[in-house]
Amino acid sequence: MKIIMYSVLAEEKPYIEAWEKKTGNQVTQIEDRLTPETVELAKGYDGIDMQQTSDVKDPIVYEKLASYGMKQLTGRMVGYEIFDLDLATQNGLTVTNIPAYSPRAIAEMGVTQAMYLIRNIGYFQQRMSNGDFRWNGMISQEIHDLTVGIIGAGHIGGASAQLYTALGAKVLATDPVYNVELEPYLEYTDLDTVLTQSDIVTIHTPLKEDTRELINKDTLGKMKKSAYFINMARGGLVNTQDLITALQNHEIAGAALDTIADETEFFETQMDPTKTPQDYQTLQAMPNVLMTPHSAYFTNKAVKNIVEIGLNDVVTIVNGQKSPHALN
Ligand code: NAD
Repeated sequence: MKIIMYSVLAEEKPYIEAWEKKTGNQVTQIEDRLTPETVELAKGYDGIDMQQTSDVKDPIVYEKLASYGMKQLTGRMVGYEIFDLDLATQNGLTVTNIPAYSPRAIAEMGVTQAMYLIRNIGYFQQRMSNGDFRWNGMISQEIHDLTVGIIGAGHIGGASAQLYTALGAKVLATDPVYNVELEPYLEYTDLDTVLTQSDIVTIHTPLKEDTRELINKDTLGKMKKSAYFINMARGGLVNTQDLITALQNHEIAGAALDTIADETEFFETQMDPTKTPQDYQTLQAMPNVLMTPHSAYFTNKAVKNIVEIGLNDVVTIVNGQKSPHALN
């Protein structure tokens, strides 16, 4: 079977080559994103695998893939809001994602960034770069004395709860789905209690209609002034301007953002730092804000699983079988 793989990273190559050897299938690796302009590169292949580096909402992409005889479109990611699933169905394409390639990768990044914030590391670094080695005003808290609030206790939120519990923190969570397996690690409650009681609020819901800008002026206003906000999920869950205002007015203590609204355009690109959007620049200049480029998932274990699960799904669907990861 011949498969084309878009947006391939150097770190994925060894796992792709090992999979080819193991399965006898052939993968053409390209760095291009899947767009209406690059979709033609998929002509002549049996299957297609792409990353979340581009929105795939243009009907042309689905129509062309169908005209090449494609049966599927595999996304190497958890969140799948970049696709138009109705268009995929209309064109006979099964879209798949990878629901759990390594929830710990993202959970560990969230905890790491929360720890950085509560220990005022950004402030100390800023001071030291100005020759200021003093501690005044910078006393920290200890994680085992704190309450962590999780919005969305699925794979990643659940893994985060386990990590925070292991560190001795009290963990609250809000989620419409009750998971009995998480009982040892968290206490379920409502959103308001999570917001008002937590010292660290960490969001792990998918981006969908009812979660878009869930973090806004109102919800930020309910958080403690001493609390930190962690977003390792999707930028669209947050009203960025409201977050900036809350930080500027000291309505919350700080934020860690692995993802920010409208980032897709910059995903995995080298930008001119003077040309990044103003909200990025404003947030990046704050010593109580940490920003990473949607890299929470980027561990060796996650990348290996992403490559293998995605390519296995391509083969499954092209061979006429059903994938457990089908989204439509
Ligand atoms: P998941 O589906 O296992 O969990 C999501 C949870 O959110 C579910 O339990 C669901 O019931 C809950 N939920 C849905 N709506 C809610 C609401 N309104 N309020 C509270 N809870 C709600 O997904 P996951 O694997 O834990 O991933 C979560 C998100 O993390 C993904 O959708 C994706 O956007 C993001 N993600 C980011 C990275 C990264 O590198 N930064 C990597 C992977 C995933």
